[in-house]
Amino acid sequence: METISDGVRARIALEKHGFRFQRTLGQNFLLDDARVARIVALAGVGEADDVLEIGPGAGVLTRALARRARRVVALEIDRALAPVLAEMLAGVSNVRLEFADALKADLAALMGGRFAVVANLPYYITADMVMKLLKSGLDVSCITIMVQKEAAARMMAQLGEAQYCLLAATIAYFARCESLMDVPPGAFTPPPHVESRLLRLTPYAKKPVQPRNEALFLRVLAAAFAMRRKTLANNLSRAFQVPREQAAAWLEAVGINPMARGEAVELAALARLSDAMVECG
Ligand code: SAM
Repeated sequence: METISDGVRARIALEKHGFRFQRTLGQNFLLDDARVARIVALAGVGEADDVLEIGPGAGVLTRALARRARRVVALEIDRALAPVLAEMLAGVSNVRLEFADALKADLAALMGGRFAVVANLPYYITADMVMKLLKSGLDVSCITIMVQKEAAARMMAQLGEAQYCLLAATIAYFARCESLMDVPPGAFTPPPHVESRLLRLTPYAKKPVQPRNEALFLRVLAAAFAMRRKTLANNLSRAFQVPREQAAAWLEAVGINPMARGEAVELAALARLSDAMVECG
């Protein structure tokens, strides 16, 4: 009997159920079996792994992940995909499909222990989702995500580069970020207006800086990028509701020029700053 590929099966199911793609939900599906197989191979998923997939769409990547992983939890926001996914995932016993907004989902409750993330992300949630995963405190082994190429450049920007931003600084603190492959618009159905890039973020076992109070350090980091035209002293004063003189004194105490812009200050200096703020209570 002739077997049809998952990509073809997905196309047939989408057509059969009259699925209408919604651009606002970032619905550009990857129905190309060879590329999907490459993503799963690059993600390094193995039989001991639990995987979180954000946005399974028609389930082609979900099926490929389920063949390799111990368990896949797939979070899809669009219930219109229910009949398609029911057909695509019939008989696949290690997938838990939930219709939920991944940004609001309780990942700790869903995943339990250590897990990897693999997703062809809806691009409108890239920054919020990466922030949520990194700051969750959960045991995330690896995050392999397809993102818009411009977003990838921002995420990998280094201190001193024009694109360095809060997202890049937060990633630099939590994880090593690598570019794995580029994917042209024509590989997706329907094709997006942008180029795409697959990234891997590997959370550090030992972070590059060790602030004494991580929650406070992350507040300092957010304050540093809050208003880019303002000095760090002004941004700190506003974020922590202290007089500017107090903020300037904290900065001077750790050798940071109060007139510096937050985006020009190294993570190590911001960690020293948050440590000094802990001491000041
Ligand atoms: N994984 C599929 C693939 O590779 O073909 C679909 C990827 S498509 C780029 C993104 C998917 O995420 C869509 O199915 C979309 O409905 C879903 N989605 C959009 N926003 C979401 C959210 N906030 N939470 C969960 N899923 C979401």
